[in-house]
Amino acid sequence: MPVYDYRCDNCGRFECAQRITAPALEQCPTCGGPVERLVSRGVGVVFKGAGFYTTDSRAKDVARKVNRERQEDNKALLDGDVAGFVEQSDRTDRKIAEGL
Ligand SMILES: [Zn+2]
Repeated sequence: MPVYDYRCDNCGRFECAQRITAPALEQCPTCGGPVERLVSRGVGVVFKGAGFYTTDSRAKDVARKVNRERQEDNKALLDGDVAGFVEQSDRTDRKIAEGL
């Protein structure tokens, strides 16, 4: 389960482990004030599922394409678009399964 960093104006930074599909917290669990989710070290790069090969040049080419797709996945996630992330990463999984 990824750990997200949040910032509360009253309480400062705190961390919260959440399912990747869970919505971002909107309220501080301590004071009930509004919180902002920070871009977290834990979520910046998501290497998910199959598709990473590093041995020969063809495989490197594939790995590069996979990385590009995953960057699109992560962009959606960093935008806070979790539904978009899940959808996009499923699409990437399908592309990888089809050999890109
Ligand atoms: Zn607070």
